[in-house]
Amino acid sequence: MQTLTAKSFTIFAIPATLLVASFLVLPRVTELPPGRLEILCILPYFAAALGMGLSIHFHRGRAFYVFLVLAVSYWSFRAFLKGEPTGISATVLYQAVCVLVPFTITLFSLMRERGIATVAGRLRFAFVALQALFVGWAMEPGHVAVQQFLARRFVESRFLDSLLIPQPAIPVIGIGALVIAYRACTRQSPVDSSLLGVLAAFVAACNGIGTGYVTPVFMTAAAAILSLGVLKDSYNMAFRDDLTGLPSRRALNEHLTWLGRRYTVAMVDVDHFKKFNDTYGHDVGDQVLRLVAAKLRGVGGGGTAYRYGGEEFTILFPRRERKEVLGHLEELRRTIADYEMRLRGDDRPDSTKEGKKFRSGARGRGVVSVTVSIGVAESGGALRKPAEVIKAADQALYRAKGRGRNAVST
Ligand code: GH3
Ligand code: MG
Ligand code: MG
Repeated sequence: MQTLTAKSFTIFAIPATLLVASFLVLPRVTELPPGRLEILCILPYFAAALGMGLSIHFHRGRAFYVFLVLAVSYWSFRAFLKGEPTGISATVLYQAVCVLVPFTITLFSLMRERGIATVAGRLRFAFVALQALFVGWAMEPGHVAVQQFLARRFVESRFLDSLLIPQPAIPVIGIGALVIAYRACTRQSPVDSSLLGVLAAFVAACNGIGTGYVTPVFMTAAAAILSLGVLKDSYNMAFRDDLTGLPSRRALNEHLTWLGRRYTVAMVDVDHFKKFNDTYGHDVGDQVLRLVAAKLRGVGGGGTAYRYGGEEFTILFPRRERKEVLGHLEELRRTIADYEMRLRGDDRPDSTKEGKKFRSGARGRGVVSVTVSIGVAESGGALRKPAEVIKAADQALYRAKGRGRNAVST
């Protein structure tokens, strides 16, 4: 879990853009020729089917069942409603879907990824099927208690009355949105952030059921948002290091292919890390790598940090000369050296016994610190290829180690 910063919210950029785009295209939709409008009405099915295909390909069970829920609820609207719901059955169906779908999306956002055809996946399917059966049952005449509950007005509000969405759905949507937004920010997962977009699009689709083509447009948007989330998530898995959350070596190699001619590379290596592992154990080592990575992520001078491998990191400064970034690297080195890392839970070392074995480790129970050595090289001169610049930075790193470590070398 990462701490929340303004940057944490950038994962909502794609869903937000698609939502805004949907609002913008809406007035133009009616200008389409009738044939196209017919296609528009079945577009949500195609979008959901495409999303289900993507989910199967990338083994995304949560997304798969949300696509299913979207497709089934859209089908139920088309089968039982003609515009705004009229009559008891249609009204109950509409109201129940408005409550149950946001609830289900929220619930799925809280669950862990567990695949599609697995036991957990089948349970999720059963849960969705049960809801469909329940709605079918509630639509029949005579189930007055459920029907009255769904139609209930809890508060007098002109705004709420102006919405088509029934009042019992409002807290479900509100709490759901907060829960999903929090999960998305803390997990930094594109599937979770797209679920917030799905919820918003679904609410817009429901509320606009009686107005023009609002429902197919926003149902399509919901499926498109989630599909992009699934794709982005899979991209991240390939290009992001799992342990530290930093971009991986693969991402670095990819970035190097479209880098301009001028740039500076810094290679960062944790000092005596083998000894650190031997003293405190691999789990504590992992935690420290995460904390060091968090500091690297915050490096100034326009640098991007990558995990090169093991306890080695690379920082890329596009369009920067060596002399422009040295100050930032020196500051980074000092920040890490001064940083007292608090370890969580059972991994905490007992500094009185174990910590003394480690040179810079003993700062009280549960608090450790490490240092890093940094080698820097800039492009240009004899160094034409990125691999040559990285090699030069590596040699500079070697010199920093030779100077007694905890140093920046050029
Ligand atoms: P130096 O100051 O010369 O860099 O010494 P060092 O001990 O850091 O260097 P060395 O390359 O010998 O050791 C690196 C160690 O990093 C070896 C390995 O146990 C540890 N390591 C590599 N990857 C991971 C990881 O993902 N997690 C943990 N906990 N340790 C790792
Ligand atoms: Mg090393
Ligand atoms: Mg090392």
